[in-house]
Amino acid sequence: MMTSQSGLFDVAVVGGGVVGCAVARRFALDGARVLLLEKAPDILAGASKANSALLHTGFDAPPGSVELACMQAGYREYMDIRERLNLPVLETGAMVVAWSEQDAARLGDIEAQARTNGVNDVRMLDRSEVLTREPQLASSTYGALLVPGEHVIDPWSAPLAYLTQAVSNGATAQFNAEVRGGELRDGCWFLETARGTFMARTVVNCAGLFGDVLEKRLLGASDFTIMPRKGQFVVFDKAAAAHIRTTILPVPNERTKGVVIARTIFGNVLIGPTAEEQPDRTRANVDETTLRMLVAKAIEMIPALADIPVTAIYAGLRPATERKEYRITARPAQQWISVGGIRSTGLTAALGIARHVSQLHAEFDRQPLAPPADPRWPSVPNLAEHLQRDWQAENHGEIVCHCELVTCREIENALQGPLPAGDAGGLKRRTRAGMGRCQGFYCQARVSALAAGKLAEPLAVETQDD
Ligand SMILES: Cc1cc2nc3c(=O)[nH]c(=O)nc-3n(C[C@H](O)[C@H](O)[C@H](O)COP(=O)(O)OP(=O)(O)OC[C@H]3O[C@@H](n4cnc5c(N)ncnc54)[C@H](O)[C@@H]3O)c2cc1C
Repeated sequence: MMTSQSGLFDVAVVGGGVVGCAVARRFALDGARVLLLEKAPDILAGASKANSALLHTGFDAPPGSVELACMQAGYREYMDIRERLNLPVLETGAMVVAWSEQDAARLGDIEAQARTNGVNDVRMLDRSEVLTREPQLASSTYGALLVPGEHVIDPWSAPLAYLTQAVSNGATAQFNAEVRGGELRDGCWFLETARGTFMARTVVNCAGLFGDVLEKRLLGASDFTIMPRKGQFVVFDKAAAAHIRTTILPVPNERTKGVVIARTIFGNVLIGPTAEEQPDRTRANVDETTLRMLVAKAIEMIPALADIPVTAIYAGLRPATERKEYRITARPAQQWISVGGIRSTGLTAALGIARHVSQLHAEFDRQPLAPPADPRWPSVPNLAEHLQRDWQAENHGEIVCHCELVTCREIENALQGPLPAGDAGGLKRRTRAGMGRCQGFYCQARVSALAAGKLAEPLAVETQDD
């Protein structure tokens, strides 16, 4: 067994998805000695790799749920800290659009639920108000509920900023460090990983799609079972953004929020996700029939999309469980906190989940912590299309990816610093190189040359999910 020289950590966070990154940040700002262990070469290897990137108000979340409380706390904190970390928001608002008389009959209940949840700025729009706001929407609409606070963010720069801030304030992040076993001995967890054994007083399980597997390995049992729920997406070319401003939501059902049409922070328009149960926890394949169905649905809602080419397709996996509610539990006797089943709202809720977890921890570990007197606020690069990009600034070197206007300087910066890209997917998510119209056809050779010898995995071995 290899042994670690890192000493005893107060908290070991297992998993570098958006939730683990936010939890590590919270504990670092609380003054804890924090370790984040991630099995992949970079952050965001699981559910957080592919989502709709909506910052939700919680208008349709179950009233009184932990999920709602975490989403609303997460939303508030994102808005509070975003300027200091350079995190973007595209203020789109959303409309829950009724496409049938039955849908229209349900809008009143959704409005009431929004008000119960404290989202009081919602407003009913009749058909003509909907079409005035979104003239390109199909005129077959029956009206909508406007939710002005639903926005769009960058799903990758937010977690990167959270973990960068954690590391800048003393946290340690270890990659290629899958937790394969461990035991609690004399008040301390000994966690076995491929990078050695790490010691921590408390473990916070943020292993997402593998949360139950981790608990079975280390605790012998788990009180939740992950049932991956796939969501496929189609991304339309940037020209589509001229046809829609507001996020278009369907009337949701019990299982899913349904298929959404939304602008992305990067200037495209997406439609998705589907909700498909599957046993596989790692592969999120797309299939032609579903993608064609999504394209047809998009055109049905916004006919002008018929003339816009598709730029990309992707799918993500939600770490759903037997229940809708998050599975966040403290187990003081085992010095363990489970953060399981962060299904389909974790991007929004991550900062709120982190506060909730920190409070649970304080209830059983009363060791006083000394928060940093002057915490660091590192700024992450902006990739949002509506804000100033690096190619518009001086001395960026050259433009390497002409579809997404990615500069040489952006790629070089993503390969260094406190959290350099660990693999091809990580480099794409930090820069967008290869994510545009040509999907890397023209820039991959140049990007590979810039990244040569700097990534744990060479660019050419990228998987389909990336
Ligand atoms: C299709 C879809 C659409 C969505 N849309 C939205 C949205 O619009 N807005 C929103 O707020 N949320 C959305 N979500 C939800 C959000 O993406 C998830 O809630 C969130 O990503 C869950 O993050 P996580 O950190 O819990 O899990 P993950 O991202 O899965 O992170 C877990 C990490 O743990 C690592 N790991 C696993 N086992 C181990 C181990 N033994 N040792 C070390 N590391 C390990 C994994 O490699 C992974 O990186 C959507 C999700 C999907 C799939």
